[in-house]
Amino acid sequence: MFADLDAADPLSGLREGFHLPNGVIYLDGHSLGALPMAVPLRMAQLLSKEWGRDLISSWWRNGWERLPRRVGERLEVLVGAEPGTMVATDSTSVNWFKAVSAALELAGSRRVVLTDSGNFPTNLYVLGSLRDVDVRVVPPEEVVAATSSEVGVVALTHVDYRSGRRHDLAGITALVHSLGAIAVWDLSHSAGVMAVDLARHRVDLAVGCGYKYLNGGPGAPAFIYVAPRHQERFRNPIAGWFGHAAPFDFSVEFVPAQGIERARIGTPHILSLAALDAALEIFDGLDMSMVREKSVRMTSLFIDLVEGMPGFDVVTPRESGARGGHVSLRHPRAAELITVLAGAGIIGDFRPPDLLRFGFSPLYNRYGEVMQLGEALRAVGR
Ligand SMILES: *Cc1c(COP(=O)(O)O)cnc(C)c1O
Repeated sequence: MFADLDAADPLSGLREGFHLPNGVIYLDGHSLGALPMAVPLRMAQLLSKEWGRDLISSWWRNGWERLPRRVGERLEVLVGAEPGTMVATDSTSVNWFKAVSAALELAGSRRVVLTDSGNFPTNLYVLGSLRDVDVRVVPPEEVVAATSSEVGVVALTHVDYRSGRRHDLAGITALVHSLGAIAVWDLSHSAGVMAVDLARHRVDLAVGCGYKYLNGGPGAPAFIYVAPRHQERFRNPIAGWFGHAAPFDFSVEFVPAQGIERARIGTPHILSLAALDAALEIFDGLDMSMVREKSVRMTSLFIDLVEGMPGFDVVTPRESGARGGHVSLRHPRAAELITVLAGAGIIGDFRPPDLLRFGFSPLYNRYGEVMQLGEALRAVGR
């Protein structure tokens, strides 16, 4: 059955666009995406021709100056954002700080930020570093009930990094708006593995990570989205020269750039931006609903395989609409099992105290690999 699914998979050819070591089943793309073939080629050209030969003229001759927006444009297509709303820059942590800070100003006098305890730790730490803000952290299933007219900003991660549980982005955003608040979403575990439709759901601000399902490489730049209706009032809490209307006027006074450029801070990370740009080529023309369909099928098959296996508990929601692209299992010997699997060439990851996580990338994982993982777990878990 798994071989039939692979034979009929319309996305199976995409795997050839990735370097995957022989004998390895890589199921950790939710943490560090695999290396796209296009990246080393682009890096070689960047180093020898652009940096090596054209040197500083590359800023305009080779389009370095436009790279943060060029990557932003690719991302807009991927997450259903309006043109002119995204830029690739900084890390997710920094963008989260910028987005939530700006959202608080958009929210007027309300100083309550609501988030949940399933949020990624860096997001919680960053919220804790905001001044004069009342941060409320509730369990994920209590977010809706805790969203009141006191709350100024609801700041959540779409897909839970640990459990794979997915928040109802459309429903929560609509609720937040009905109470006059601002919705900030972190798409780190959803961008590149499912359609997100930021514009359609009228999301206010969003951020996300470049090195997970987007395969931009270790430390790839992250992204930030600001809805068109908020751009004029968006104030970057870190005013830097690349967010200036005219960086190369070197004026003493800060005048923010028009549009999304004002979400930038300093000199763009050209090497890693170029890697992310090349990595995103594989998404050109790709229908994200097909990507999501394969993701759902792989995660469903995997959940079916492990359900009822002695020792394992499926932590991720069974209902496909309530989860993202990875599946987490609980097992008392989780850490040991991840090591044993890695010894057999099956790479997943461990999250303390007792979770095994497996990410299934629709771009390069095969249904046959899901089956092999299931068999391996059956053998080691007893
Ligand atoms: C991976 C991840 C991050 C990473 O943040 P960095 O600043 O890029 O290290 C942030 N938030 C979430 C939800 C993540 O999953």
